Amino acid sequence: MARCLVTGGAGFIGSHLTQKLLADGHHVKVLDNLSTGRSDNLRDVAGHERLKIMQGSITDPVLLAEATQGTDVIYHLAAAVGVKLVAEDPVRTIETNIYPTDSLLRLAIQGGQRFYLASTSEVYGKNAKSDWCEEDDLQFGPTSRPRWAYGCSKAIDEFLALAYHQKYNLPIVIGRFFNVVGPRQVGNYGMVIPRFVEQALAGGPVTVYDDGSQVRCFAHVREVVDCVVSLTESDDARGRIFNIGSDQPISMRQLAEEVIKRVDPAVKIQHVPYQEVYGDNFEDVNRRVPDVTRLRETIGTSPSMPLGDLLDDIIAAKRSA
Ligand code: UDP
Repeated sequence: MARCLVTGGAGFIGSHLTQKLLADGHHVKVLDNLSTGRSDNLRDVAGHERLKIMQGSITDPVLLAEATQGTDVIYHLAAAVGVKLVAEDPVRTIETNIYPTDSLLRLAIQGGQRFYLASTSEVYGKNAKSDWCEEDDLQFGPTSRPRWAYGCSKAIDEFLALAYHQKYNLPIVIGRFFNVVGPRQVGNYGMVIPRFVEQALAGGPVTVYDDGSQVRCFAHVREVVDCVVSLTESDDARGRIFNIGSDQPISMRQLAEEVIKRVDPAVKIQHVPYQEVYGDNFEDVNRRVPDVTRLRETIGTSPSMPLGDLLDDIIAAKRSA
């Protein structure tokens, strides 16, 4: 039994992680400002005797110190997320993603906690390789394009975590999430699967940006949080970076067709230019596929749920919401 802090614990991934940790018998403190997270996400565990929810911001240093007190493990998931939100407010992205991570890492050096840092596939930028390995180059676009503020801010977090590991032997592990999806994810922040499902359930059209040839791999959140916990508990993972995601690619056009086939074959697809959604200065990532060899070699598994099962689960959850 461990005493865990989950920052961003009311968020989509954070709430699934909180549920898993409670189910595994741990004590969990959640720190969340309920901006993109929602208290409703924790509804299934509300009132749990081993759960404490602290509402507040990770940008408040006093609260951070209080939240870390008496804990053994820190899962740091709180961040400004969602390509749309990030493109609209790069200053907030940088403030939320960098300074609080540094403060938390410093607190962990004093408190001796194990530290899981949630990072993102956005750190690879638009690397043209077909599969991305943890040691690949990061290739961001110009600073005049705000999208890259997110990946850059998380890359700085990674540098900080690795530096504190090297300097103070802080037991950190970094996980780069690749398009995590599942029940409770909402479409408001631009994420494609909840958007497609919500649009299809409302009768359409399903909005495919550009020509729909962009490629992504989608991983079920329950498989992802299992990987997060296994990595954090593994001594072999210490001081290292891991891709966490599915390695089964699909284009956005095909994805739209798969959603429509399941919800209502009469729904139409509408192609929308990026400019209409994100304004000028937006750049998309054409292909994003992780190499998950390191993850498999270290914890013996990686997210593998077939896309069809994943979509069925999400559609069922949205229908019953
Ligand atoms: N996308 C789309 N229609 C939408 C929302 C997103 O075609 O309504 C595309 C988006 O341009 C990107 C892909 O779906 O190529 C995944 O977008 P998301 O924001 O979910 O994640 P990203 O991988 O871009 O972080």
